[in-house]
Amino acid sequence: MATIADLISILEGMNGIIQENKDFLTQLDMPIGDSDHGINMARGFQAVADKLPSLAEKDAGTILKTVGMTLVSTVGGASGPLYGTAFMKAAVVANGKTELTMEDFLSMLDAAVEGVKFRGKSTTGEQTMLDAMVPALEAMKAASGSAGEILAAGLDAAQVGVENTKGMIATKGRASYLGERSLGHQDPGATSFALLLSVIAKHFA
Ligand code: ADP
Ligand code: MG
Repeated sequence: MATIADLISILEGMNGIIQENKDFLTQLDMPIGDSDHGINMARGFQAVADKLPSLAEKDAGTILKTVGMTLVSTVGGASGPLYGTAFMKAAVVANGKTELTMEDFLSMLDAAVEGVKFRGKSTTGEQTMLDAMVPALEAMKAASGSAGEILAAGLDAAQVGVENTKGMIATKGRASYLGERSLGHQDPGATSFALLLSVIAKHFA
């Protein structure tokens, strides 16, 4: 069971890991994009972190909706609206809740995935963030055990998914302009998703 304090702490941790990996994410975006994914994400999650002190008394839905809106208005690029949508869709599931179960979390991630697919007109196998999100969700739905064990299974699957993007040809986003030359490259958005999930997994480990 996650409390609002857990949620706030996780969001702080997400900002931390994005700041630490800002250059790495930007480097991944260099050969297949426009070298800004780390910069975009770092700007967005810093804006989120700045708002957290004012959100500590709110419910999970309000907090996640604020996160989503903040990401949409600050991240920019393709990933801003997509991550923004993901958090806003999760917020609908978390509406009014001050405690979240693993079942809630899986419903939130499910809604987030559907939101990204709809907004991005994308699906798995296109070398995007969905190639980390969907395997993670599926692995967690199939896993059993403690929250820590389920999240660890999800993180493993997300990391395998990230690795698998190297074997894909991008058909969405900037990388799709490269066609077959996108092959062999690790997707920045899939990588940032795995980093965000790692914060949740570590929190409950
Ligand atoms: P931009 O491509 O506009 O510069 P970013 O560099 O911040 O934006 O983000 C790029 C990431 O966004 C990609 O690595 C990919 O994971 C994700 N992405 C781009 N387009 C889509 C889409 N249509 N559906 C899902 N994810 C996408
Ligand atoms: Mg980019």
